[in-house]
Amino acid sequence: MLDLADLTITFDGAPAVRGVDLRVADGDVLAVLGPSGCGKSTLLRAVAGLEPIAEGSVSWDGEDLAATPTHRRGFALMFQDGQLFDHLSVARNVGYAQRLRGLGRRAVRAEVEDLLELVGLAGHADRLPRTLSGGERQRVALARSLAARPRLLLLDEPLSALDTELRSRLAADLRRILTEAGTTAFLVTHDQGEAYAVADRVALMRAGRIVQEGPVAEVWADPVDSEAAAFLGDSRSFVGEAAARILAAAGLPPDPGASVVVRPASGGTLDHTP
Ligand code: ADP
Ligand code: MG
Repeated sequence: MLDLADLTITFDGAPAVRGVDLRVADGDVLAVLGPSGCGKSTLLRAVAGLEPIAEGSVSWDGEDLAATPTHRRGFALMFQDGQLFDHLSVARNVGYAQRLRGLGRRAVRAEVEDLLELVGLAGHADRLPRTLSGGERQRVALARSLAARPRLLLLDEPLSALDTELRSRLAADLRRILTEAGTTAFLVTHDQGEAYAVADRVALMRAGRIVQEGPVAEVWADPVDSEAAAFLGDSRSFVGEAAARILAAAGLPPDPGASVVVRPASGGTLDHTP
């Protein structure tokens, strides 16, 4: 279990993350949701050990990680743009961590095949990244992150570089993949749809602070204040898994083909178009 206690991070004395308390239980997916510049990436980088902490602590299973460097934390970090090695095939990109772990060729090949299957890219092993679509590249990046068998997967806006339709499809896939792999994950995003579709719990972040945290449906149904309500209700359209979760949160019957539009002016009313 990841445990952040009273975590504060400052740049030249100015706090970017202020007194954050958060927990991620084993197997859970937590999304920190907040506008650009509120401190999400800084928070994630601190968890990874890439940002010095001014106050508070990052712990795993009760052990303070202050003295544990990034590469010994057992965490994997995945960014918006995936950052694949362009000159290596899909299989070699995904197998990178296993080769580092010293696994034999055959074992690497078998693991890579399983991971490509999991992310829906079976048969793409020998392709080069530049021959793939943006969505396929993100899947490769995800497979590569999972290959390291991280005890915690850190995701910084993993789908933001993709267009809207692909994003909402891949968000549902991402949830399935994380759930099937039993991965504990900590996602940060400014995109409500991404948070709803992927996470079990959501924490709303504003100006460096967590203002509300809870199960996705609870936070959506009962925002802590009008600013949170307005942010959650940013007029956007949700489809697929994200739409299903919003309908459930609002106590409406499931409707597989539905798209849901949330409008801020009406205080979180749902427009529901099958
Ligand atoms: P988000 O990921 O939510 O968009 P960031 O964590 O990137 O936000 O940034 C939070 C705040 O910290 C911003 O005001 C940003 O300018 C500042 N910041 C981030 N990284 C640095 C840095 N290395 N040096 C100085 N200020 C930084
Ligand atoms: Mg960021």
